[in-house]
Parts: sequence; structure tokens; C-alpha cells
Amino acid sequence: MRCLILADIHSNLIALEAVLADAAGSYDTVVCLGDVVGYGSNPNEVTAWVKANAALAIRGNHDRACSGDEAIEWFTAHARTAAFWTRSKLSPENQEYLRSLPAGPAALDGFHLVHGSPADEDEYIANKNEAAHQYASMPGEVCFFGHTHIQSGFAMRNGKAWTMDKPAPNDAARCYELEPDTWYLLNPGSVGQPRDGDPRAGYALYDTVKRVVAFHRVAYDVTTARKRIEAAGLPGFLASRLVLGR
Ligand code: ZN
Repeated sequence: MRCLILADIHSNLIALEAVLADAAGSYDTVVCLGDVVGYGSNPNEVTAWVKANAALAIRGNHDRACSGDEAIEWFTAHARTAAFWTRSKLSPENQEYLRSLPAGPAALDGFHLVHGSPADEDEYIANKNEAAHQYASMPGEVCFFGHTHIQSGFAMRNGKAWTMDKPAPNDAARCYELEPDTWYLLNPGSVGQPRDGDPRAGYALYDTVKRVVAFHRVAYDVTTARKRIEAAGLPGFLASRLVLGR
């Protein structure tokens, strides 16, 4: 099965549409690693799309916060403002859908999904050492994660962990054939709010038969996404960071 792996869409419909156009014809099924909403201007459109199209989706911390499921005092000021705004805009059906999303790890066709880490859905995995700490919690050999908004891959074998390269600024994709007896933590990058200095939307394709994972980047109309955030009255910082990819 060829899977389109999406994470951290964050209500950015323009970025989602660019990813879908770029990946068209290359996948049979869609999975989503959480943070469907929060930060961006189109929470209803993006939630409805995920609900209709994802074979499997798990919740992120913003999905919990924006569907009224928990207190959000620990969010940054901008994230909190966006969460209250999103709560006020989401339809009851979409709120209900976001509330219904399960926590990871969730399994599909021999691989797993988590939002933050296998051990804790709110934990960040930012480097190979933090990845190596997850070894005992790994639900299986291949696990996709999100939450950091940083496209990245970490491989582990015989007590050693290493970082996989991602597409360079001018590259559209980077492919890996997964090796046997090796464990992988793979982050497709954020569709709607990349934070690794590359403003292009991130996603991954995973072929479960060939065991090939491809990290992709695609440019989208950041200017319009930025204007929509400003027009919605959301914090300007959330608009300007899209341009920088930080
Ligand atoms: Zn996120």
C-alpha cells in the first residue's frame, strides 16, 4: 500500500491543497498524525477534508485544545489566542470529530502513528539522542511522528541511532529504502507550519510493500495563506512565520 503521511496541517488549506496536487496519483491511502487545526485560517475546511479522506487519524495537542477538550493555559500566548479563535469557528460536527480522534500509537498495515513520541503524545523528538530514548517504547519497527514541525528521520540499530537526510532547499524529495533489523522514527514535516527554515509544505510517502519512504517538500502560495490569517484577525506572528518557515 502506498500511504500519504500528513502531520501538523494546522488549518492551512492552501498548503494542504498544494500537497494533494503534488502527491496526486502517488498514494492509495491517507493517514494524519494530528494537529489538524490551530494557528491557521481554515479549520472547518481542513477538518472536513481529513474526516472524509483519512483512513486513520490520531489527535494532536491542538486538536484537543481547539475542540474544547482541555484547559490550554500551558499554550503560548499566540497558540492560545488561535485556539480560542478556532473553537469559536469550528462547527459542532467538526469539533465532535476532533474530540473523537484517538491518541497514538495507532497501527496500520505494519507501521505506527504517534503525534509526539511513542511514549507520550505531547513529547518532542528533536534529535537522534531523543529518538534513541524512545527505543523501549517503540510500538514496531516503523513509526511516524509529528509535533516538532521539523521534517526528519532517525534510524536505530544495535544501540546506535543516526539522522537521515531530508530534501535540500532545492530538492523536491529524498527517498530511502528501509533496511532490515532497523527501527525508524520518521517525521513527514508539517504541511501547514514548517519550522525547519524551509517554508515549503512537508509530507511523506511510504510504500509498505517496497518499504520505501520519501520525504517531500512543495512550495505553496504562502502570501495568500498569510493574508488569510491576518484577515481572520489572528496574531500577525502566525502569518509572518509561514514566510520564514520558522
Ligand atoms: Zn503542531
